Amino acid sequence: MVQNRRALGLISGGLDSTLAARLLIEQGIEVRGIYFSTGFCITDSLKKRGVSDETSNLCSEALKVGEDLAFAVNIVDVSKEYLDVVTNPRWGYGKNANPCIDCRVMMFRKAKEMMEKVGADFVFSGEVIGQRPMTQHRPTLRQMEKQSGLDGYLLRPLSALKLAETEVERKGWVDRSKLKGFHGRTRRPQIELAKEFGLTKYPQPAGGCCFLTDPVYGRKFFDFIRNLPEGRKVTHEDFDLLTLGRHLRLSEKVKMIVGRNEGENNALENFASGRTMMMPVEIPGPTALIEGDLSRDELQFAAQIVARYSDADARDRVDVSCLRNGSEEQFTVEPLQPEQVAELILK
Ligand code: SF4
Repeated sequence: MVQNRRALGLISGGLDSTLAARLLIEQGIEVRGIYFSTGFCITDSLKKRGVSDETSNLCSEALKVGEDLAFAVNIVDVSKEYLDVVTNPRWGYGKNANPCIDCRVMMFRKAKEMMEKVGADFVFSGEVIGQRPMTQHRPTLRQMEKQSGLDGYLLRPLSALKLAETEVERKGWVDRSKLKGFHGRTRRPQIELAKEFGLTKYPQPAGGCCFLTDPVYGRKFFDFIRNLPEGRKVTHEDFDLLTLGRHLRLSEKVKMIVGRNEGENNALENFASGRTMMMPVEIPGPTALIEGDLSRDELQFAAQIVARYSDADARDRVDVSCLRNGSEEQFTVEPLQPEQVAELILK
């Protein structure tokens, strides 16, 4: 049994990183965990804004993995610096708005810093070669090792037998023969290994947790980036807003967000500062936020959109309240026709 070695693992709360940790613990290696909160995790973010009934999220799952396997997991908030990663990715985007290579490189760089701080000998992750299209090909895995400064000191216990030997194995800190050679998209070997370890309850793979891989989110994201006024700094609030409501592009400079249910209507009210907010006065209907400077005609048009999504009959005239810059006014409008609205929605 390998003795007296300490490893720092990226723990996502999913099955793969749990198994990777477990394989090392079986060898007598002391494991520590780290979970990076980017601000783009679906469960974490919905829960934070109170629009999810889920009792757990990945952050809490990561802590639970540590609790179950008896090691400490540090939650590290990287959301501020992540804004630059997501808007200027050196290695570009995947299929949607996901800058996976940059994201992983940033996480591994941070893990390296932390490895040194906590006196760990190496870093490990639950990556499986060939499992995900952008980040888990052999050349990309190598590139990430080099770019993060972890060359030779980044172990992927689940796929180690399919990868070149690392310094960690060469030095005998880890017994390579006890690692795995999983590869490809099938999750059967992981499920089998989980059974062997007696793990019966585990969350779904973590890849599906990121807003940035969602095609609808991606279209809103790129619309936002394309129409960003020069010199305007992005904030997490901008990206949080992309997760709420229907987004309608009224012009290059004006975008409208219309709540789809009570939870979203309430959440949108929290983002009203610096924006125009509209809602029907006497009948049930959505809360809408509008970004950008609007002309009178555009305000009127936006009010018609609010009326369209209200409970009013298509021929009713609807009073819509409009709050901006601390003052309120009302528009009385006819609802816009559904097909006119449909053309404006970013789908
Ligand atoms: S899916 Fe999201 S969190 Fe995962 S590597 Fe890609 S960008 Fe990062």
